[in-house]
Amino acid sequence: MAMKSEILTFLRESGDYISGQELCDHFHVSRTAVWKVMKQLQEEGYVIEAVRNRGYMLVENPDVLSLNELKSRIRNRWAGKEIYFYEETGSTNADAKSLGEAGAPHGTVVVADKQNAGRGRRGRTWESPAGKDIYFTILLRPEFPPDKAAGLTLAMALSVVQAIGAECSLEAGIKWPNDVVMNGKKICGILTEMSVERDYIQHVVTGVGINVNLEVMPEEIRETATSLFLESGKKTARAALLQAVLKKFEQNYEKYARDLDMSSMVADYDACLVNRDSQVRILDPKGEWEGIARGINASGELLVENQAGETVMVYAGEVSVRGLYGYV
Ligand code: ATP
Repeated sequence: MAMKSEILTFLRESGDYISGQELCDHFHVSRTAVWKVMKQLQEEGYVIEAVRNRGYMLVENPDVLSLNELKSRIRNRWAGKEIYFYEETGSTNADAKSLGEAGAPHGTVVVADKQNAGRGRRGRTWESPAGKDIYFTILLRPEFPPDKAAGLTLAMALSVVQAIGAECSLEAGIKWPNDVVMNGKKICGILTEMSVERDYIQHVVTGVGINVNLEVMPEEIRETATSLFLESGKKTARAALLQAVLKKFEQNYEKYARDLDMSSMVADYDACLVNRDSQVRILDPKGEWEGIARGINASGELLVENQAGETVMVYAGEVSVRGLYGYV
């Protein structure tokens, strides 16, 4: 396992032929052992060219989502250092919670190719078909108090937007607090759940679903949802995007844990905020109202100017925000 993912890393990073002998020497194995790994990789869909006297070259890196592919890419200090991959699972948040209870370390990541019971906020479902999208959850063990955990969702949303920019050269926006959108439709949802004991956080799980290569949106969400592929016409290697999200999140989390607020991210977050300076309707269970969204404060609350001209701080907990004429 370790050798296979390391060989993948070598092949990807060299971008050229690597001699079989070099690999034998590095891993202290026979030529046949190296050849066997290459054959397995080819069977998994990697296009590897073998040329006599030159060695092996990875000529095409397909959209493979597997433990090996992820391990061969992720180089973070803690985010995804420990990683689990399932072809199919109920919900990665539920899996990460069980791992949290069993003592798994901070930064453990659970990835699935398909979820049978993907969840959104307030018991809503998250459509999670196989083979196209990214569903993952990161387990966190913050040392800050429970009332600071809401910011993790915002930090994750920002990380997803930054990763889509870096990896796909596409510009996505944020619909406060937890949706990543493109052209007015949702491409990513984030669900943070926390386990609290007395007044400290036992663990937090932040789950992310990204619509990546989906070509046809399920009927129920066609009005409000889209995918990176539908918006750009380009396919994305999911493992590469996931790697980029985890890398950005590791950086953003560290800033958040250091400052205990969003102060270092407010400007970047506001720059992505699709509702900024436009009319929004606040769907507060205590009563709906309208105003103009101005941006977030360091606590991650949305600043909304009401009709009396006062600025109201809207807390993410139980409200949804809508544009006046639709979802954004
Ligand atoms: P809002 O804040 O807009 O009210 P939400 O943040 O509460 O929404 P989430 O909990 O993030 O919503 O996501 C659940 C909702 O997202 C579902 O009710 C459904 O409408 C929509 N949805 C479900 N699956 C997907 C998907 N794969 N892509 C985009 N949207 C989806």
